[in-house]
Amino acid sequence: MLTALRQSDSAKVLARASEKSEAPFLCPRCWRVLVLRKGQIKIHHFAHKPPVTCALGKGETEQHLKAKLEIFDALRNEPNISDLELEKDFGVSVADIFARISGVPVAVEIQRSALSVNDIITRTRNYHRLGIAVLWAGLPNSDLATSKYSPRAWEKWCHAAYYGRVYFWESGQVFKVIHFGPYQIHVASSSWFEDGEERSAGGYDRTSRRWRTPRPGVPCLLSSSFRTNRRAPWSGGTVAIPECTLYLDFTPKWWSGARVEGT
Ligand SMILES: [Zn+2]
Repeated sequence: MLTALRQSDSAKVLARASEKSEAPFLCPRCWRVLVLRKGQIKIHHFAHKPPVTCALGKGETEQHLKAKLEIFDALRNEPNISDLELEKDFGVSVADIFARISGVPVAVEIQRSALSVNDIITRTRNYHRLGIAVLWAGLPNSDLATSKYSPRAWEKWCHAAYYGRVYFWESGQVFKVIHFGPYQIHVASSSWFEDGEERSAGGYDRTSRRWRTPRPGVPCLLSSSFRTNRRAPWSGGTVAIPECTLYLDFTPKWWSGARVEGT
């Protein structure tokens, strides 16, 4: 966690702006005392003491902390941003970043491995009830640069929810946006003799069920490339999307081919 409550005055403070002499620092969820970690290399943060029973900060990696901090710092300099807050607690969940962007309340959630698709759905529904648009994004992933990629469960969910787009934080307030196109597998042709006649098979392409081809679009800026999109509940295959308010980029579709549900 990048923030904590300073017990002396109940102020929410940033780890990088805090000193150990200001301790104790408390977790706003479980009220236990947190350790302030100010190392030379790692991003300054707060941590629970073991055994950790609190969900706050669970599954956060160094890269996750970096993403939150960079987004926060980048938005601080934008004129159309107000009410900017790191790790804003909404009870059911803590938004990594909350801000009003041109007046629109937006929660940014960076995906971490501890979160299941069910968690994502619950949080998405909760933000919708609060009238907040949500942007789900992954961390940078070099595998997306290949032509053959097997999307993870949360990526499939986001792809369906965001009309064929999945966001990945890149740096500052820049997000990469990926469409997963079909991946063709070539079935080699073969021929053989059967009952004195020549038979043949294969020699065609088929669409893989497992693999997709990542198709990157133009990178998006959080402060200016998105708008809210309210969508009705939808389900298909193994994916269920609740009624939700999404923060969706408005770049025209950059891929062709199969129609994506909802567009
Ligand atoms: Zn806690």
